This record gives sequence, C-alpha cells and structure tokens, in this order.
Amino acid sequence: MSASPSAAPSPTVSDAAEAAVEAITGAAHQDVTFSLELTQDQKDIRDWVHGFAADVVRPAAHEWDEKEQTPWPIIQEAAKIGLYGFEGLAQFFADPTGLTLPIVNEELFWGDAGIGMSIMGTALAVAAIFGQGSGEQIGEWIPRCFGTADDVKVAAFCASEPNAGSDVSGVRARAKFDEATNEWIINGQKAWATNGGIADVHVVIATLDPELGSRGHAAFVVPMSEAKGISQGSKVSKHGLRASHTADVFLDDCRVPAGHVLGGKEKLDERIARVREGKRSNSQAAMQTFESSRPTVGAQALGIARAAYEYALDYAKEREQFGRKIIENQSIAFTLARMKMEIDAARLLVWRASWMGRSQHTFENAEGSMSKLKAGEVAVWATERAIQILGGNGYTREFPVERWHRDAKIYDIFEGTAEIQQLVIARAISGMQIR
Ligand SMILES: Cc1cc2nc3c(=O)[nH]c(=O)nc-3n(C[C@H](O)[C@H](O)[C@H](O)COP(=O)(O)OP(=O)(O)OC[C@H]3O[C@@H](n4cnc5c(N)ncnc54)[C@H](O)[C@@H]3O)c2cc1C
Repeated sequence: MSASPSAAPSPTVSDAAEAAVEAITGAAHQDVTFSLELTQDQKDIRDWVHGFAADVVRPAAHEWDEKEQTPWPIIQEAAKIGLYGFEGLAQFFADPTGLTLPIVNEELFWGDAGIGMSIMGTALAVAAIFGQGSGEQIGEWIPRCFGTADDVKVAAFCASEPNAGSDVSGVRARAKFDEATNEWIINGQKAWATNGGIADVHVVIATLDPELGSRGHAAFVVPMSEAKGISQGSKVSKHGLRASHTADVFLDDCRVPAGHVLGGKEKLDERIARVREGKRSNSQAAMQTFESSRPTVGAQALGIARAAYEYALDYAKEREQFGRKIIENQSIAFTLARMKMEIDAARLLVWRASWMGRSQHTFENAEGSMSKLKAGEVAVWATERAIQILGGNGYTREFPVERWHRDAKIYDIFEGTAEIQQLVIARAISGMQIR
C-alpha cells in the first residue's frame, strides 16, 4: 500500500530506536502479555501426569502393545486419580492459556501412545458434545462418556466410513426422522472408530441429505446400552497404537430419540433449511470437532517424539564403538541436536494453536493444522532417527523405540492426513480452492 500525502509521516530510524529503548527500559512497568513461563499450576499438573506416565503407563506399554487390547485396568487407575474423567478434562480445558491440555497429552503419550489413546480417545467424542451440544446435552452425555472410577466407560467419535476418510463430505450414513415415533433412524457403516463398539456413548456423524455434502451432516449421540441396531464390526489389527481399540461400527435401522441430535432438532432443521436456500452455514459437524482437537493431537505426537529423543540421547551417551561413546561422533550428536530443536519447534506451534483456540483467536492461517502437521512429521522422523541411533537394538522389540516409531506414524494419518493438513493451510493462506 503506498502512503497518501496526507498520511502520518512514517517514523524515522531514530524515532523507532527511541521507541525501542523506551519499551525496553519501561518494560518493568508494563503488563506482561506474553510469556512462555509455565504457571505453578501448569507445572504441578505436568509433573503429576508425568509421574503417572513414568510409574504406571510406561512399564505396562510393551505388554498392552503385544496383547492389542484396551488396558481397562490402567484407564481405571487414571480415573481413580482424576486423570480420566469429566472433572479432570474440564480442569485441563479451563486453563485460560490453553496450555494445560497439550501439556497433559504430551506427558501421557510420552509414557505410551497406545495406552494414552485408550485414555484420551474418549476426548474426541467429548469435544463433539461440548462443541455442538446444548447445555442439557453436555450435562447428560459427557459424564456418561467416562462412567465412574468404579465402572469406567469410554466414548467413540464415528465420522470416517470405508469411502469417506479424507473426504468427509462423502459420508453416506443416513439419518431420517420418523415423525410417528419422534425418533431418528440411522443406517450406515462407520470405519476406523477409536473405541468403536466398546464405547458406551458413540457420537455418529450422519447425513440428512447426501446432496448437501458436509453441510448436510449432523452429529447424533448413540448410547450402546440403550440404542438397538448399533453393533461393532471387525476390530482392526494395526501397525501401531495397538493398545487402543479401533473398529468398524454398523448402524442398522438404529433408532435414537429426537433429542439425541447434538444442538437439538429445531436448530438442525433451521440450518438445513438455510443450506437448501443456498445460504451459508457455519456448522459442519465433523470438521468442527477435528479443527478444535488438532493441537491436542499434535501434543500427543510430541510426547512420542520426546520419548524417543530422550531414550536415544541416553543410549548414545552409554554405547561405545571404536573406543568412544557413539555421541562423540558428530553425525550422532548433530542428529540429537536436530531432534531436540525440531521437537521444541513443534511444541511452540502446538502451544500457539492451543492458546489461539482457547482464547478464541481465529485460525487465520490454519494454525491448528500447522501444529498437527509439524508435530506428526517430527514424531515420525525423530522416532526413525532414534531407531538408527540404537542400531540393531533399535530394530528389536526388546527396546521401545521401534514401538514409538510404529505409534508415531498414525499422526501423519488420522484427524486429517499430512496432505490434507497442507491443503487446509494452502487454502487458508491463499484464499483459493487449491485441490
Ligand atoms: C488408528 C486409527 C484411528 C482412527 N480413529 C478414528 C476415529 O476415532 N474416528 C474417525 O472418524 N476416524 C478415525 N480414523 C480414520 C482416519 O481419520 C482416516 O483414516 C483418515 O482421515 C484418512 O482417511 P483414509 O484412511 O480413508 O485415507 P484416504 O482419504 O483414502 O487417503 C489416502 C491417501 O490419499 C491422500 N489424499 C486424499 N485426498 C487427497 C487430496 N485431496 N490431496 C492430496 N492427497 C490426498 C491422503 O493424504 C492419503 O495419503 C482412524 C484411523 C486410524 C488408522
């Protein structure tokens, strides 16, 4: 933009220098609006979760990875200390800086990602209910997602389908309203649902009209114990994250009461009417949930990356070849230096996006996607490098780095693949429909 003749004169170098000196010398008197110093509460929560991750989660990681089963006893232990449950999650979320949630996730997933996902997988369904539900729905369904410490439950968020992964608009699960019984009837197949079929509460994305793409979607609460017509399909056998249950979910004339659509039927009817008239609609059920959860998912990837980095650093300082510690070779030491730098850089992106999300700053440049993309890539790269630093040991199941590498790869894939995150960022920065 060129300055008009009547515009205020631009500051000279000396004006700017003077302003800078004033800012520096006067800093003590100003309110501090930016800090990376964690509060005492944040440090306490970080250390508490780290203790659980080190004492309970990590020692059990190998066993549950081999069993490929949901570690119910560990979820229960997490519930007993308040780490798993509505109150805990609400406390983490309440932090106005937005940092507590990623800090908790990083520490827990540092312990183990499979067990971590068994504990945090419920949060995606909770995020959908919290983000799209009415006050009454939040009060009714969120506590049910967790159960109690004596009778723990998990929840599932079911958006993906065999033919609708990256392209969420391709969802074909269909919801129709039956006026006679005042119920929704849902039919379709959901794929890859974390906790699918073993969850008490399933949040199911279905379309009211496939012609409307994602603008025709709505989110329905389907309680496993009450709704007829919902069942688990085959459980998926996976490369990593094997302590976390993943399965298809079938909805076969599944009926739920009218009030089970998140946000309420009246609002949904109004929204669909607006969309049919060609007006804009901001609410796209699945996308809203993913956008808010991306920095948290990035923090999980960071936890895995940090575990691998710390392990590789210790190993490199112990292992000797050619009469010296392997870290004394620059190629090893520089790799570790880069690992540390990349992890810290990814954390800054995660914290920025978490802070923006919590303080209601709009993601103008898809900062949520940036954080998840970077953290996922760093986790895959850092865990692969950790295997390299451990050599043959790194490739065996006797050492945890191969598991961390298998676990890390999912962060390039779920909640939007690396390619889709780039698409989101590219569209945001260009304002164009990049394909
Ligand atoms: C362990 C696990 C847990 C999961 N948990 C859940 C869950 O709880 N709930 C849920 O709803 N879903 C879940 N998912 C599904 C997950 O979100 C999808 O797998 C993911 O969105 C990718 O979809 P897809 O697998 O169909 O891949 P596809 O969409 O078929 O993509 C295949 C490849 O094509 C690329 N591609 C696709 N479109 C484009 C494009 N436009 N431009 C460039 N490249 C493109 C992709 O990036 C990818 O590399 C889970 C998946 C796994 C593996």
